[in-house]
Amino acid sequence: MLKRVDVKVKVNVALPDAAEQAAATGADGVGLLRAEHMITAGGKHPAEYLRKGQKEGLVKAVKEGVRKVAEQFKGKPVWYRTFDARTDEYRELAGGDKEPHEENPVLGWHGIRRDLDEPEMLKAQLQAIKELAEEGLDNVGVMLPFVQSVEEVKQAKAIAREIGMLPEKKKPAFGVMVETPAAVWVIDELIGEGIDFISFGTNDLTQLTLGIDRNNEKIQRWFTELHPAIVRQLHYVIKKCREAGVKTSICGQAGSNPEMVKQLVRFGIESVSANIDAVEKIREIVLIEEKKLILDKG
Ligand code: PEP
Ligand code: MG
Repeated sequence: MLKRVDVKVKVNVALPDAAEQAAATGADGVGLLRAEHMITAGGKHPAEYLRKGQKEGLVKAVKEGVRKVAEQFKGKPVWYRTFDARTDEYRELAGGDKEPHEENPVLGWHGIRRDLDEPEMLKAQLQAIKELAEEGLDNVGVMLPFVQSVEEVKQAKAIAREIGMLPEKKKPAFGVMVETPAAVWVIDELIGEGIDFISFGTNDLTQLTLGIDRNNEKIQRWFTELHPAIVRQLHYVIKKCREAGVKTSICGQAGSNPEMVKQLVRFGIESVSANIDAVEKIREIVLIEEKKLILDKG
C-alpha cells in the first residue's frame, strides 16, 4: 500500500539548447537527457573521435551539452542517458560510413552493449560527468540504455570506478532503462547489483513485448503501451523497486500519456518524465490522481 503520494513530474530533454525552455516548465528534474544530439552536433560520429585518438573532443562535446542542462536544473536530478544510436542512424556524419551494416539495427549494436564493446566511448561520457561534478554540477546521474543483463551493469560500474567514480556512493547516481522484457524479468538481479533508479523506456518495451516495429506505419494501430502485457510489467517492476527503495520513473512516450500516467501513479511510481509540451498537462493529471488515491484510502 502507498503511504504517501508525491509523484514528481520531470521533463525529457533532447537538445541542450532547449534546456531553458525545459526548466521554464517548472519540472522537478530531467528524467531523460538524450546524449545523441550533443555528441553528433559537431558533425562527427563519436566512433570517429575514438578512431582518430580525439577522445578529448568527445568529452568536451558531452560536457558542454550536459552543462547547459545541469545548470538550468541546479539542485534537481538530471539523468544523462549514455549514447544509444543505432548503426544506421548517423551514417551521414564524418566517419559514419564506417559503421557496420546490420540486418536489424534496432536489435543490434547500440546502447550499453555497444559502449561495453567500445569502453572508451563510455569512459569519455563518464569523464565529462565526473568533471562537471568536480565543478559543482553534481546533480547529473548516469542512465544506461537497452540493458538486458546484470552483467552489463556490473561492467559499466567497473568502468565508472576505473575513471574514479564511486557509483556505490551515488557519485554519480547510477540507473538503468527498463526497456527490454529481459530487464523486467531480471529486475531482482539488477536491484541486487545496486542501482539508484530505473526508468521505463516504453517505446522499446512495447516494441519488444508486442513484436511491433514502433516506426512501421502499417501496424501502428496495434502499437499501444496500454496493452496489459506492458502494464503488468510496469506494475511488477515498480513493486519490486519500491520494496528495495530503488526510484522508478518513465521516460518513454507513454510518460506523456494521461491514461498511462494515471495507472502509474496508482502503482506507486516515484516520478514521470514527459515531453516539454506535455509537462503541465501531466502535472495536472498527477495531482488529480493523487487526490483520488488519498480519498479512496479514506
Ligand atoms: C524508449 O525506448 O522508450 C526510450 C525512451 O528510448 P528511445 O526512444 O531513445 O529508444
Ligand atoms: Mg529506447
